[in-house]
Amino acid sequence: MGGSRGGIYGGASTVEQGPGGGGGQGSASRDAEAEVWSRRVRDVVSASPANRRCFECGQRGVTYVDITVGSLVCTGCSGALRGLNPPHRVKSISMTTFTEAEVLFLQAHGNEACRRVWLGTFDPRTSARPDARDPQRLKEFLQDKYEKKRWYDPWGEGGGGGIGVGVHPPPHIWRHPPP
Ligand SMILES: [Zn+2]
Repeated sequence: MGGSRGGIYGGASTVEQGPGGGGGQGSASRDAEAEVWSRRVRDVVSASPANRRCFECGQRGVTYVDITVGSLVCTGCSGALRGLNPPHRVKSISMTTFTEAEVLFLQAHGNEACRRVWLGTFDPRTSARPDARDPQRLKEFLQDKYEKKRWYDPWGEGGGGGIGVGVHPPPHIWRHPPP
């Protein structure tokens, strides 16, 4: 006659009903929510041509999000960004889950907005972008860019060209013409 403890109270003692409470493994709703936000990240990538190219080296195909500045980068550059001082937070688009705050931050920034700030005074005639196959040059470029803020333009965000230019892409809506 032992074992009656698991009967009535067993099922109700979990934290599934509490929004944001505890959680942990095995909570399907949290996983589903995380999947929604991860999909939003992929939407951000496909929403803008600039977001499909690595923000640092320019090569096609982005696999990581730089959560620190809100940009999209390739695998090689994500590793270099982690090595900065202080290190940037980068997350794999396909291997990690994202929070709402991270997705909103990314949506509000993206590569084009980041370019206006972090490469605001960058002149391709006098400075060259690094090649991802040259880790040492890439590292020096990122140190110039983020640690020394060599091309940083505090007015790049919202200043100059007006408020919100290109920062908020239109929602991805498919419209079928009426028959
Ligand atoms: Zn790259």
